[in-house]
Amino acid sequence: MQKKTYCNYYKYEREVLMKTYNYLLSFNIKPSVQRIAIMDYLMTHRTHPSIEEIYLALCEDIPTLSKTTVYNTLKLFVEHGAVQMLTIDEKYVCYDGDINLHAHFLCKKCNKIFDFPAYYNEESLCTMKNDGYEVEEVHQYFKGICPSCLKDNKEEIN
Ligand SMILES: [Zn+2]
Ligand SMILES: [Zn+2]
Repeated sequence: MQKKTYCNYYKYEREVLMKTYNYLLSFNIKPSVQRIAIMDYLMTHRTHPSIEEIYLALCEDIPTLSKTTVYNTLKLFVEHGAVQMLTIDEKYVCYDGDINLHAHFLCKKCNKIFDFPAYYNEESLCTMKNDGYEVEEVHQYFKGICPSCLKDNKEEIN
C-alpha cells in the first residue's frame, strides 16, 4: 500500500521534483517526499492556498499525509524563508510560494488573493537601516472588490 502511494507520487516529472528538491536544500530544509509535494504544490499553484486546500489537494496521492503535517511543514518553510505566510485575513491564513517582494489584494467578496508589484521606495528602507532597524519582511495588503465581482454586482443590481 505504502509502496504504491510512493510510486503514484512519482508520476510527477523527475525534473520538476529535482528543482523543488534543490530549492528546499538551498533553504537548508531536508527534502522528504511530503515536503517536496507541499513545496511543489505551492510553486505550481500561485493561488495563495490555505492549509486545508493543500491538504485536500495532496491527501489522495499521499494518504499518510495529515493536516498537522501540512501545518508543521509550512511552519518550517516559513521559518527557513522558503515560503511566505499571509495574514491578510485574520481568520484565513494562507501561503505563498513566491518569496519575492510583492503586494496582495484580497477581494472581500470571493476571497481570492491577487498579486501586484510592491509599492515602496529604497529611500525609506535606507532611512530605516541607517536608524538601526533591520527590515526582514515587508507586507503590503490591499482589500476591496475584484473586477469580476464588481461586474457581478452591477449585473445583480440591473
Ligand atoms: Zn472577487
Ligand atoms: Zn503572492
